[in-house]
Amino acid sequence: MGTTDETLKANEVYASSFNLGHLPMPPGRKLAIVACMDARMTIEPMLGLKTGDAHIIRNAGGIVTEDALRSLLISHYLLGTQEFMIINHTDCGMLTFRDEELGARLEKQTGTAAVAPARFHAFPNVEENVRKQIQKLQSHPWIPKHVPIRGFVYDVKSGRLNEVTVQAAKAGA
Ligand SMILES: [Zn+2]
Repeated sequence: MGTTDETLKANEVYASSFNLGHLPMPPGRKLAIVACMDARMTIEPMLGLKTGDAHIIRNAGGIVTEDALRSLLISHYLLGTQEFMIINHTDCGMLTFRDEELGARLEKQTGTAAVAPARFHAFPNVEENVRKQIQKLQSHPWIPKHVPIRGFVYDVKSGRLNEVTVQAAKAGA
């Protein structure tokens, strides 16, 4: 039995005592999070959140990609979230390679060039990466200035979140 089959068995148990069918669509605590997909982070318990509380957008590296941005705009404008968090973490896989290397390796391995993805968004420094993601949001014309955007590095050894500070960005910077 593959892992997917095991999850289906687990879902039967979950659904048998399910009692969250009443939850509304908008996140109850008006929070949206962009986080790395790392399997060692279970975002809700890490932050004291419950089902229905927040939008959690995850990808490799916790990057504000065009698609993450799409989700955040929908989250804010259509579903009422009012605060954004970026969560990266120590020991991230994105620190272990470079975009060009991976692209070249896949091209070699498959014998084919590909137009997408244009980038893998690997990075050499976690704090710097978090700052960059915050700045991408702060400088976006459709993200209102009153929406707080804070960034963090989660320590996979201690379970603790450490905030990454960013110098106040000038409007339109
Ligand atoms: Zn990661």
